[in-house]
Amino acid sequence: MNKSGSRSLARLPQIEKLLQSGELTAWFSRLSRPLVARLTAETIEEVRATIQSGEDYPGIEAILQSVIERCREMARRRIHHLINATGVMLHTNLGRAPISKAAWRSAEAVNTGFSNLELDLQTGKRGKRRGIIPDLLSLLVGAQDALMVNNNAAAVFLILSALGKGREVIVSRGEQVQIGGGFRIPEILAQTGARMMEVGTTNITHLEDYTGALSSDTAMILIVHASNFRIRGFTARPEIRELAAALPEGVLLVVDQGSGTTTESIPGEQSVSHYLKSGAHLVSFSGDKVLGGPQAGFIVGKRDLIQELSRHPLNRVIRPGKTIYSLMEEALIARLNRDAEPPVEAVLKLSMEELRTRGESLLAELVPDSARLVESSVTTGGGSAPDECFPSLSIELQIRDKAQILLAELRRMDPPIIATIEDGRVLLNLATLLPEELPQVAAALKRLLTQKS
Ligand SMILES: *Cc1c(COP(=O)(O)O)cnc(C)c1O
Repeated sequence: MNKSGSRSLARLPQIEKLLQSGELTAWFSRLSRPLVARLTAETIEEVRATIQSGEDYPGIEAILQSVIERCREMARRRIHHLINATGVMLHTNLGRAPISKAAWRSAEAVNTGFSNLELDLQTGKRGKRRGIIPDLLSLLVGAQDALMVNNNAAAVFLILSALGKGREVIVSRGEQVQIGGGFRIPEILAQTGARMMEVGTTNITHLEDYTGALSSDTAMILIVHASNFRIRGFTARPEIRELAAALPEGVLLVVDQGSGTTTESIPGEQSVSHYLKSGAHLVSFSGDKVLGGPQAGFIVGKRDLIQELSRHPLNRVIRPGKTIYSLMEEALIARLNRDAEPPVEAVLKLSMEELRTRGESLLAELVPDSARLVESSVTTGGGSAPDECFPSLSIELQIRDKAQILLAELRRMDPPIIATIEDGRVLLNLATLLPEELPQVAAALKRLLTQKS
């Protein structure tokens, strides 16, 4: 390196010095001081390398701006509130069901102080971590008993580990599905030590396929809801009731229902209570899909089986904490009292007139002719009604920019807006915008569209 290069290196600012600048201290609350310090150090290292490869010293201001850009990128990766304009109500990428504000407020004290999570207030001794969730949930779905774990994948894993290990589990070839990222029925089964006995074909599985596969080694028949697709046309499968009636003593009928449809009327969906009434011994489902609670998995059904599952060592590994217990109790009570409408049902009940009113009041705030209302559709998502579309309205942005660029710009807004592209047009679906978010959406769109007009 020449002399001027060494001089440039000597001018590199010290990290501590940079960190005193107001422009960086402003990021401490959002990222922590040590993380901002690391991003600063990385930036200085990079500048050092460019100087060593012969470039000029860029100046303190450029270095500072480059650190701020890194801080901004890092802060965007934090989990934060965004606006779901996708038209998919329960979207795993977008955190599934929003928790009701009332439930959130009621759960505050339990979470910010101490609680009786595992204390029996009657005796003062160690109690069971179950609260009244099994009581509430059993009432909601008509089950003898219930168990809550971290998610539905854990629920299925626990059932197979505790009741299927080393034995045969019969699964239809039409139900060997993959749900979301990484939840594959055959792989989960293999992990639990249960042996999968495949029966039937992709589209047709008869009662005789199941009964023909039964042996003294059969632990259970596992029925899996084809959460995110539907096989149409030439298809057949036995009714749960027929299957239940055909099973010998000691063979369990287990249903991974998935979406957690309980009392709602979602076209094309069988409810948890339907499966129980039809004779399933155990049914598992998610707590943060149709039910509208925080992330959790439920197993409901026969009391002796639920108790066996509760005692299994794996249950200790997948048990939820106080945050989930408190929020779920609130969600279930509101549900049983019909105080709160579950998010999916609320969306399905939205009338076109209401959507039009919301859309028109939004449009009224925008530059004329920058957007218009178009007919579209909404889906429930979350593994429910995979084949059903319900009518909705969307705002179509009428900007000449490339749709992909516009979509990226919407994601960069504060809060980010997640829209979709259809036939090259950018659409914001009104059905999945929460009513209280409409002013935020209007303000964001106004900013974006005013810049462009
Ligand atoms: C969603 C779903 C799962 C996974 O549930 P998580 O709560 O995400 O673990 C498993 N099975 C079915 C049928 C589902 O719909």
